Amino acid sequence: MKLKTRAGSVVFDNVTKTYGHGAVTAIDNVSFTINPGELVTLLGPSGCGKTTTLRMIAGLEHATTGKILIGGKDVTQLPATDRDVSMVFQSYALFPHMTVAENVAYGLSATGVAKAEAREKAEEGLNLVGLGGYGSRLPSELSGGQQQRVAVARALVLEPEVLLLDEPLSNLDAKLRRHVRTEIRDLQQKLGLTAVYVTHDQEEALAVSDRIIVMNRAVIAQQGTPRELYEQPQSEFIADFIGDANLVDGEIVNIDGNHARVDIGGAQCNLRHRGQAKGPVRVAVRPDAVQLTGLAAIAGDAHVIETSLKGHITHAAYLGSQMQYSVATPIGELFVIDHRIDTPIIAGEEVAIGFSERGMAVVSAE
Ligand code: ATP
Repeated sequence: MKLKTRAGSVVFDNVTKTYGHGAVTAIDNVSFTINPGELVTLLGPSGCGKTTTLRMIAGLEHATTGKILIGGKDVTQLPATDRDVSMVFQSYALFPHMTVAENVAYGLSATGVAKAEAREKAEEGLNLVGLGGYGSRLPSELSGGQQQRVAVARALVLEPEVLLLDEPLSNLDAKLRRHVRTEIRDLQQKLGLTAVYVTHDQEEALAVSDRIIVMNRAVIAQQGTPRELYEQPQSEFIADFIGDANLVDGEIVNIDGNHARVDIGGAQCNLRHRGQAKGPVRVAVRPDAVQLTGLAAIAGDAHVIETSLKGHITHAAYLGSQMQYSVATPIGELFVIDHRIDTPIIAGEEVAIGFSERGMAVVSAE
């Protein structure tokens, strides 16, 4: 193989970016480290600053204050052309009049690589993304998914220290999106690339990432592995943004080491304790952590605790692989998912409510 992988790290050190002479703060004193070989996703709602962050790594925007390092080198003042990164854009940005092979080789030729070598690397890049033999076609003769793979090949042949992907799948339909995201992840792992991936789709982020940096209003709301973010959300925002969550009032009645005994409407749960004092707290409860009596599998589940909390079903919907319920309770309306579809409860029925502690977390209030 001629193509080389050079996985570099990315460090943001107290980076702030303002626009309009300080009128808009797009990034507010943000610090993070992306390790060599990691795929890290920048995730967050529209306007949170993820694109600005990616563009600052690329050198397409410059930090107002703070330092940016790539592969240990301070690049804060370097223009895009002097940085060892390449970017895959949402729009693919292929030249329509050039063949696929010419598109892939373009960046190499532009930096002075000899024609024959550029052609060889382009061919290798196309093989890597499963498009060997498509080199002589025009982009318009390929599907959307194939065009995006050409864009990935074009970025890879530049042998970047860091591969940047800006919402790379948003022009593809849902099924193809799942397929191409798997391909991108496989390739990144196979080549050991450092990659920074921007998306606003939380499921996509969970599926492709080693780590996710969730941004909200110009700062990092929380960062961690997909599992950490889903299972240990620290705030109402994260609990609600990564997956679905019921946010309810609870009260810490006792603290024992790293566990807190939390009362939720009379039901008592032992949840991980993160320094909150005794007293009122907010609790995130995943829809599948609410368990309704009457369903067969409750008996024998060690995680389920006895409860005096009661409610009644206001809506019941059969969705093939799961039942979805809305339950009116003294602690508010709960959204519940149950995968045991053989014994559904009908709307209007009274239920006793239990909680599975695995799907619950004490979170900070918004
Ligand atoms: P989206 O998902 O909608 O692309 P984002 O999280 O990528 O959003 P950014 O594009 O990074 O968000 O924008 C962050 C903030 O900076 C927003 O308030 C945006 O309006 C502002 N902003 C971005 N670019 C500029 C610019 N060139 N001039 C002024 N404000 C800007």
